[in-house]
Amino acid sequence: MSAIIELQRVCRDYKGASGTTAVLREISLQFMSGEHVAIVGRSGSGKSTLLNMLTGIDHPSRGEVHIGGVNIHRLDESALARWRGRHVGIVFQFFQLMPALTIEQNLLLAMDLVQSIPRPDRRSRAGALLEQMGIAAHARKLPAALSGGEQQRAAIARALANNPPIIVADEPTGNLDSQMGWEIHALLAQLARQGKTVIVVTHDRQAATDFERVITLEDGRVAREDLRSGR
Ligand code: ADP
Repeated sequence: MSAIIELQRVCRDYKGASGTTAVLREISLQFMSGEHVAIVGRSGSGKSTLLNMLTGIDHPSRGEVHIGGVNIHRLDESALARWRGRHVGIVFQFFQLMPALTIEQNLLLAMDLVQSIPRPDRRSRAGALLEQMGIAAHARKLPAALSGGEQQRAAIARALANNPPIIVADEPTGNLDSQMGWEIHALLAQLARQGKTVIVVTHDRQAATDFERVITLEDGRVAREDLRSGR
């Protein structure tokens, strides 16, 4: 089986007043379709920067990122934005739902922006995704009327709206209590079982043991990789 995501010697430097800081140092990794992977490591170890390489939000200083056979950092900004909309769903720590839109409208907006789901199918797709996330009853509410865990479920539904093969999540449980966090991790695990490639940055050591693969970053390098036995 070939990798859906391949990072080849990815480096990211930031230039500041006091010189250059290497944030990612020669990271080479492959991710397969349907993998459920945690990225862990101390604050500042480069986890978010690594995720931003996979979404094209940030660019490597050196090295390449190939996703589904596309060298994504060779795309210009508008092609990259179109590519991202179809291929990657992003889940954030603070949900980032549009506060003035209902939950259903948040999903419809995501589909309207990307235009890959035919227009007549969008409303029923939104309903089905909210059903899958267990929050169909909240479709017509504004995000502020939902609990944190429900808002994160809505954000996951939105990440799935355009049916991307890859879901990335940056500390998706960082703002939730442990029960809600556990539920969110379980939902993400279920998506991987359904064939999505799910990559999650988490501080949550306990949750990280539930992943089939855990990558530990230290100072911009892959310090270790653990595979759950029986994989
Ligand atoms: P983590 O997600 O593991 O906490 P980050 O990837 O956010 O780590 O950051 C890694 C390091 O890169 C940190 O030391 C941070 O200060 C630095 N960094 C991140 N973004 C920038 C930036 N835009 N400019 C300069 N330094 C940055």
